[in-house]
Amino acid sequence: MTIAEVKALGPKQKVGEVRGQVQPDAVTRTVVVNGVDCELKEVVICDSTGQMTLTLWDRFVNAVEGSKSYAFKNVSTRERQRAITLSTGPSSLVEEVADMKVAGASGSRAESTRKVLLSATVKGIEVCIQRRCSACHARQEAFAEKSKLHRCEGCKLKQAASAFVPFCSGKALVATADAEQCGFQLTNSALCNYLRREGLADLLLDSEAIEEHLLESRDLTLTVNEDRYVEAIERGSAEQPLAPQQPEERDSSSEQL
Ligand SMILES: [Zn+2]
Repeated sequence: MTIAEVKALGPKQKVGEVRGQVQPDAVTRTVVVNGVDCELKEVVICDSTGQMTLTLWDRFVNAVEGSKSYAFKNVSTRERQRAITLSTGPSSLVEEVADMKVAGASGSRAESTRKVLLSATVKGIEVCIQRRCSACHARQEAFAEKSKLHRCEGCKLKQAASAFVPFCSGKALVATADAEQCGFQLTNSALCNYLRREGLADLLLDSEAIEEHLLESRDLTLTVNEDRYVEAIERGSAEQPLAPQQPEERDSSSEQL
């Protein structure tokens, strides 16, 4: 279906497949659904017929990159603030497709996606790791780390421990370069991406080890959005704060060579 066709569907409709180019701006945050922390990322997708907001949940948060084109399969429509949006579900699939080269696409979300890069030192931190059943997504209250098998508290299926996927959340008090102290929410995707890149994926099972590692890391750069969520963690210092994003400003001719 095209985006214009999807928008004409109304809410709570299933969409077998819609293709779109993901705009560079995205917003990540954490919400609580049925008592379980979930991470979501809102992106704007567009094709030649229009654009719309798509919410990527949990495992799909890292499935797309800005400016690339994807086929979104088995998604469904929602109504929010009188606009039809799309949302992934447990059976969704996201596959990269050839660049759709959408002309004149404008993310038009600049005001809601201001982000800053902070050179930061972590002064205080709390990391929580929840295990979730990959079959039914239920949060496990009594998961014994190091056990080989575990019975899901939701669907009651006994499964290998690896079927229970860790989900990190937490908060951090950080000191920035100008000695200001700020509190931020940590997202699962930022923590997982950082630890994997640093070759520390093993720490994902140990919240205390993550806390200690980040407290001892002197030079971190955090990408923080307006809602005070940390969207990315990197090693090294930020050169300078990122100016508010201006989607139109892509002319490279003014760059110094
Ligand atoms: Zn389950």
